[in-house]
This record gives sequence, C-alpha cells and structure tokens, in this order.
Amino acid sequence: MTPLSQDVDTDVVIVGAGIAGISTAFFVLKHTSKKVVLIDKGKLAHGATGHNAGQVVAAFERPLEELVGEFGFEKVKEALHDLNSAWKLIEDMYDEAGLKILFSKTLRRRGFSNVHQVLLALKDNEIEILAGLPRNEFLISDSAPFLEFIPSTFKHLYKLVSHEEILKQLDTTDTEFHAVVSDPAACMNSALFCQEIVQYLLEKYPARFGFFENSLIQKVVLKDAFGLLDAGKHTIHAERIILCTNGFEGLDIYNDGGLAIDKKFHHTVMGRVGYMSGYLESDEKPPTALAYFIDDSDPSQDDPYFYLTRRPHDLEDKRHNLVCIGGPEIAIEDRGEYLYDYDYPEKMHLDIDEFVKRTHCGDLGKKISYEFTWHGLMGYTPNRVRLIGAEPKNPVLLYNLGCNGIGILPSVYGGRRISKILADNNIRPSIFDPKK
Ligand SMILES: Cc1cc2nc3c(=O)[nH]c(=O)nc-3n(C[C@H](O)[C@H](O)[C@H](O)COP(=O)(O)OP(=O)(O)OC[C@H]3O[C@@H](n4cnc5c(N)ncnc54)[C@H](O)[C@@H]3O)c2cc1C
Repeated sequence: MTPLSQDVDTDVVIVGAGIAGISTAFFVLKHTSKKVVLIDKGKLAHGATGHNAGQVVAAFERPLEELVGEFGFEKVKEALHDLNSAWKLIEDMYDEAGLKILFSKTLRRRGFSNVHQVLLALKDNEIEILAGLPRNEFLISDSAPFLEFIPSTFKHLYKLVSHEEILKQLDTTDTEFHAVVSDPAACMNSALFCQEIVQYLLEKYPARFGFFENSLIQKVVLKDAFGLLDAGKHTIHAERIILCTNGFEGLDIYNDGGLAIDKKFHHTVMGRVGYMSGYLESDEKPPTALAYFIDDSDPSQDDPYFYLTRRPHDLEDKRHNLVCIGGPEIAIEDRGEYLYDYDYPEKMHLDIDEFVKRTHCGDLGKKISYEFTWHGLMGYTPNRVRLIGAEPKNPVLLYNLGCNGIGILPSVYGGRRISKILADNNIRPSIFDPKK
C-alpha cells in the first residue's frame, strides 16, 4: 500500500479506486495522452467493488417505462445501447491487459410472483425490443393465477410453459413464482479484476500513471481551470478531477462561487447499505445469476427482492463455487457515515435465512450456515440513474458515480464516457449527464 507522500501536479486525478475509478483510469490513459493519478482513502477495490455479488448485467434499476417518461424514448434507447456497449468494453479490458481471471458468461434469470412485476418486466422487454435489442426469453406459467390480467398486446412477448418449468429454471420449489425472464449475464470477481487492471496500467504507463492508497481526500477546491485536493499532509493540483467515490463519502467541495456544488452533490447521492451472506461449495455446478421478486403486495415482506450468484472462486489454490445471497438493504441518512467494519445486524441474517428456507433455491434450503457475511455501500441518485459527466457549475469536476445496486457494467461504461469527454470528443447529451 503506497500512500501519497508528496504534493502532486497532474492532468487528471481520479478519486476512488473501485471499478468506476479503475475503468476511468483505463480509458483515459488509453484514449488521451493525459497524466493520471488514482487515489483511494483505503485499499484498492475495498469499497462496493469488493463487496458485491458479482452479477454482470446491462440493466437499469428502474422500470424503463418510467425512464421513457422522464427522458423520452430516444434517450432511453441510446442509454440502453450505451450500457450494452460495456460488454465489449470489458472484453477489451480483459484482452488488452491479458487477464486470465474468470469472466463466466451465463444468463440472469429473474423470477416473478405477481402480475404487477410481470407487467413491468413485459413492458421493459417491449421497450428493449423497440430499441433494437435482442429479445429475451420470457416464460409464464400456464397455471399462473393472473393470466387473464395480461393484456393481449403483450402476447407476442412471452411463451406459456408448465409451472414446473418455471420452478426448474429458478432452481426453486417455491410455487409462489409464476414467470421467469432470462437476459445475458456474466459472473466475475470485480475486486480481482481491479487489482489486475491496476497492475497492468502501472506497467503499461509508468510515466503517466500513479496510484496511491490510504490517502483520504477531505476537500476539493475548484477554480476556473484547475482544482486542488486536500489529502491531509499533501495537496494534489489537477486540471480535471473525477469523483469515482460511489456515493458521497466524506469530502467537501468548494467552488469559487460558494458551496452550491457541495450541497447539491451531497443531496444528490444517498447511501444504501446492502447485506449479503455466502458460502463455498464444490465447483460442480455452472455459474448462475438468479433474482427472486417475492410478492411485494404482502405487507409482511420487508425485502421484496433477493438475488443469488454462484460463481467460481479460487481459494488456497483450490477452485470452489462461491454462492452468495443478498437482498436486504438499509438507507443511511444524508451525509450519514457508512462504517466498513460495522457489525452485520442479526435481522439481515434472519431475513436472508427466511428467504432461503422459503425459496429453497438449489440445495440452499438445507444449508443455512454461511462462511461469510458482509455488507457494502451503494450510492443512489434520486432517479436511480448513474451520474456520468461534467459538473455543469464547474466542468473541472466530473463524476462517474451513484452506482446503484447494478453498477459493474455502468461503471465501465462511465469510464469510457469520461474518457471521451476529456478527449473533447463530441458526445451527445445523455440520461447520465449531471443536471444543472
Ligand atoms: C452488497 C452489494 C451487492 C452488489 N451486487 C452487485 C451485482 O451483483 N452486480 C452489479 O453490477 N453491481 C452490484 N453491486 C454494485 C457494485 O458493487 C457497484 O456499483 C460498483 O462496485 C461501484 O463501483 P465504484 O467504483 O463506483 O464504487 P466503490 O467500489 O465503492 O469505490 C469507491 C472508492 O472510493 C473511495 N473513496 C470514497 N471517498 C473517498 C475519499 N474522500 N477519498 C479517497 N477515496 C475515497 C472508497 O474507499 C472506494 O474504494 C452491489 C453492491 C453491493 C453493496
């Protein structure tokens, strides 16, 4: 771990060494000739990037119909293609850095239990197809209690199959689930990915890339054509500052004109803590990404959504599968502090156990003893869309953050978009642009 040990003058400073910061560094170094410094208050990839489920999907966490209502169809269409372009970007990162670590392609299967969820997902599918994306397989049980409520205009979007087929696809015995949609996915260890990419960047760009850990940025001061970062004993002077901090963690922003950016920024990204439990099993089963939307009309359910990933994981030179289950979340107050080493609340254990018992996904129902439990911070923008681009009040500052629960591919796409902005490529306005 190398902390900052002297003042630094650079073209670009990236704050935050999670997958957003690493991807931003990768593409800025590749597509510009700028000098880049990457800095983190802790260790590389020890934020959300080191605490996620590792499901790689090109998806938004908001119904597309709502996004179309907010931004219009054309912009949503472009954003869908932008997100999907990250499949190729991540492949390029693997190729160029010669990575050998696993990127296991699979399907994400989402199971639905009520008509409301099914209609939203059908609408999403309809918009994706209109936007020119490939059609995802959508199966509904021929004994689903809500068949008559599905408008006939959606008929071409789904296929009726037996209830057993739905349960089989979801690896569950819980008859609550009546529909499943499958979309392209992959499983990866995003922390390991970041470690390897940083190593590659340090070797490839020794004169243009610097990386410092254990160096908290407490304050950012924005001037007309540059910015200053207060890293405790040392100062960084940079032409552009990219915040890849996930959320709003612990830094104040002073613009020449006052605190307007600081206030806006801190009120713009809210924190949610996500909880997960996991265990190791033999590596016989293939990688899987599953999500279960339990009946959210039932008021006894606190967490309407659980997800499970099974992915290969090497430990002590032996290949296992890591199975992890998440879903429970807690919001933290605006500017409230998230403590990485905070206890894992008993309630989260119980919620995940109860889900596992009820849903019996795979062999899990028998298991309920976890080798690992952990939590991680997710930064949520109010409209649940990632923030990528220059701050309208002072473009010295840029953001690639507000990760949301689905942030791996959006972070990679964000890195490429930032590199285009810095290279002065003419990019079209997008739903990711920070607002005035
Ligand atoms: C429990 C959980 C499960 C998830 N599962 C998935 C999933 O299956 N699929 C998916 O796509 N996404 C998932 N996500 C989201 C995904 O992990 C994130 O979107 C992604 O890792 C965000 O990366 P990031 O680089 O933006 O943030 P982070 O990885 O959090 O990196 C931000 C970095 O900024 C540093 N930092 C912050 N403030 C400062 C400061 N003032 N000075 C210096 N450094 C600072 C932090 O130390 C940290 O290292 C999950 C998240 C959680 C919490």
